[in-house]
Amino acid sequence: MRKATWIKEIFEGNVALGDIFLRGWVRSVRKKKAFSFMVINDGSSQQNLQIVLDADIENYEALSSCHTGACVAIRGKLVESQGKNQSYEVVAVGGSVLGSSQQDYPLQKKATSLEFLRENAHLRARTNLFGAVFRIRNNLAFATHRFFQEKGFYYINTPIITGIDAEGAGEMFNVSTLSPDKVKKTDDGSFDYKNDYFGKSTSLTVSGQLEAETFAMGMGKVYTFGPTFRSENSNTARHLAEFWMIEPEVAFADLDDVADLGADYIKYLIQSALEGCRDELDFLQKRPEVDDDLVERLMSVSNSEFTKITYTAAVDILIDCGKKFEFPVEWGKELQTEHERYLSEEKFNGPVIVTDYPKDCKAFYMKQNDDGKTVRAMDILLPGVGEIIGGSQREENLDKLKQRMNDMGMDQDSLWWYLDLRKHGTAPHAGFGLGFERAIMYITGMKNIRDVIAFPRTPKSADF
Ligand code: ATP
Ligand code: MN
Repeated sequence: MRKATWIKEIFEGNVALGDIFLRGWVRSVRKKKAFSFMVINDGSSQQNLQIVLDADIENYEALSSCHTGACVAIRGKLVESQGKNQSYEVVAVGGSVLGSSQQDYPLQKKATSLEFLRENAHLRARTNLFGAVFRIRNNLAFATHRFFQEKGFYYINTPIITGIDAEGAGEMFNVSTLSPDKVKKTDDGSFDYKNDYFGKSTSLTVSGQLEAETFAMGMGKVYTFGPTFRSENSNTARHLAEFWMIEPEVAFADLDDVADLGADYIKYLIQSALEGCRDELDFLQKRPEVDDDLVERLMSVSNSEFTKITYTAAVDILIDCGKKFEFPVEWGKELQTEHERYLSEEKFNGPVIVTDYPKDCKAFYMKQNDDGKTVRAMDILLPGVGEIIGGSQREENLDKLKQRMNDMGMDQDSLWWYLDLRKHGTAPHAGFGLGFERAIMYITGMKNIRDVIAFPRTPKSADF
């Protein structure tokens, strides 16, 4: 078999005119008397390629009667195109049908609502839309490693199965090999996990932070990038039961350092997509699902300062703005999505970093401020997405940390190793978690998180 070419290489200008061999999936065929036009895509880029099939070539009948979705191999000549819609096309001299498609191929031109595509998620990669989204996802994953590696961070992998029962980040999925009807109960009526695989109750991780802290306290700057699980029953367009999170943890850093790191990271991701996936972004912003100012918005955010305000200032703004919110605004309460959206979409019209939340809204490990009421926490909010980053400076003082755990009624025994970090060689440190799918939503302009992960896991849905 002669060397095959990918369509991407052609449009990068790296392929000589003349003999060529290609494979791809049929997007459309227009059949005429003496010849047919076939459009194929091989997934390598956003570009489709037009093939001219003359009626006298070998296999003409089979090729020209392909349905959308069929897979073909084409031999021919690459030529500069006469048509105004493309720069290159291929004049076929022959070819074969690798896999035919049937009339009932689900992805016909009309029936392609996002909902329908979710039900046919096994075929989503064959659409221009999902090709664009997932090429961008790939770009952002690679950019993530580049960003942290260039800054001297070490990539670590923290466990997916965890025995930590109080990370405070959300509800957890149990991991067990016992069948529920055989689990014995202890005298006080709770489950007895002694006979379970790990001899105790274990779950899927909601965050790798606590383990990452142990590495930051020895290797300085580290980051994780892995799957994360939350069984919260939030059926929203921004929550998944299984998502991917990037968690940098930095020794000797304070909250401002990691707020800057988070803003730089987000801008780096945007720039990477603008440079590496411009065709995809241009394509996306022409789609009805996506706002038509996507590229302009990304360009402006990649060059702008993020607004930074304290939680207390944010509450004042929300109370003074006179807007009627569904959830009342009151100092001490969580900011709801509608509040976060008001701040980033209406008030500041761009990314906002909110810092110094009331301690009762946040996890036990966050560094306590001298006012006794707030902690050195931050959330980064983006228009259209809401919270993309949650982070904090960590409490490095052993007594204060123990006191806080006590006040919150937490068991300290199981986190003995976490407390030990504060006992031996403690140091200021800080970190954050960025939800990878939220970043992809923001950069692709897609409005439902189910459309930026290959096979979404959400309440009552774990198909594929
Ligand atoms: P939210 O308030 O949006 O539910 P959170 O405060 O529970 O998020 P954190 O514990 O701070 O989230 O997690 C860090 C980041 O992980 C969030 O800023 C967000 O980007 C992402 N994230 C959290 N929960 C989910 C989820 N269920 N699905 C997808 N991404 C999530
Ligand atoms: Mn958060």
